Amino acid sequence: MIIKPRVRGFVCVTTHPTGCEENVREQIEFVKGRGPIENGPKKVLVIGASTGYGLASRITSAFGSGASTVGVFFEREPTENRIATAGWYNSIAFEKFARAEGLYAASLNGDAFSDELKERAIELIRRGMGGVDLVVYSLASPVRNHPRTGETHRSVLKPIDNVYEGRTLDTDRGIVKSITIEPGTEKETRETVSVMGGEDWGWWMDALDGAGLLEEGCRTLAYTYIGPKLTWPIYWEGTIGRAKDDLDQVAHSLDERLKARGGWAGVGVMKALVTQASSAIPVVPLYISLLYRIMKEQGVHEGCIGQIQRLFATRLYGGGAPVTADDGRIHMDDLEMRADVQALVGDLRPKITTENLNDMTDYEGYQKEFLKLFGFGVPGVDYDADVDPFQEFEK
Ligand code: NAD
Repeated sequence: MIIKPRVRGFVCVTTHPTGCEENVREQIEFVKGRGPIENGPKKVLVIGASTGYGLASRITSAFGSGASTVGVFFEREPTENRIATAGWYNSIAFEKFARAEGLYAASLNGDAFSDELKERAIELIRRGMGGVDLVVYSLASPVRNHPRTGETHRSVLKPIDNVYEGRTLDTDRGIVKSITIEPGTEKETRETVSVMGGEDWGWWMDALDGAGLLEEGCRTLAYTYIGPKLTWPIYWEGTIGRAKDDLDQVAHSLDERLKARGGWAGVGVMKALVTQASSAIPVVPLYISLLYRIMKEQGVHEGCIGQIQRLFATRLYGGGAPVTADDGRIHMDDLEMRADVQALVGDLRPKITTENLNDMTDYEGYQKEFLKLFGFGVPGVDYDADVDPFQEFEK
């Protein structure tokens, strides 16, 4: 089958297995090139392991620290009529490369919010690794079927209290346009906290602890975004910000528990990057297009793997305790939030129009990164070659 990209809004409905494999290989090479991570983890569970920051965490654990990994994710398998989602092919490629180096790697595809999947993960971890010394919670989901109430909760990206009026980028058509977003209701905010907050992370840790699988000194980490004030009405002060606030609170209580056993729990503040999750957030793609241009020009741009490798090597491991800032979080947004970078963002952003989008921002880079998430535009891949989409995990 010859597979070409078919973009619909902020998703690409086709994916390229060879391109996905190449993406994973490229990230592995990056991590290996940076050398081993001192005192890194050895038995790692990544929840949300198939794309974005979670995949980078799994790759860094395995290829930077020689860790066994169990990865949990929710991806669509290939069927008669449909190609699988990118995370499916990414994870098959990851397992293949990890096993080729003698590293234990096992994956579970299913709903991480469910009790059933937690039970299956516990069994897998018990048999395959005997325990965990790092748990990364990197889930990004629009929906959660709550396992206790049976209700379906949906996350929304809306302001709270005030109507948001601003400008956004239609990434599909390359158009800068005005946008008005009505504030989320109390129910919407509550549901967003349920989906993207910390409750489920806490339940994973409870389940692992209850099964006696948390090793002495175990660390656990979830990812957050704070960003500059211009994104706050829609992000940090919006419905998703409430969820991230909840994540912080869960981090505190997990830390209290783990600290007594030489462990640690916390939140990593990451840079804004093109991922499947972030491309769905209004306002953010326009900001990212400009940010990429500025950070690339200044030679300080990093992708997911650059962020996570640096996080593991210099903040989460590499010495003694994790390196946190005054707010108790690990900050990997240091380069994004540098005063000179943000001064340029503030100066240039109001001047961007549809006409000058390509000159003023790295919209081209944004689009390339976006397509790459789905395995397209990856150097070295022959997109005219026949490819088999029916790939399965090796037993
Ligand atoms: P992503 O869309 O690339 O990855 C999401 C992962 O979650 C995938 O592995 C997917 O399969 C998995 N997933 C979704 N629903 C699931 C379910 N029900 N069960 C099991 N797995 C499920 O997203 P990302 O951008 O890497 O986001 C990961 C985390 O990083 C999020 O908490 C996000 O808020 C945070 N973050 C992202 C950015 C950014 O700019 N992308 C910046 C800072 C923080």
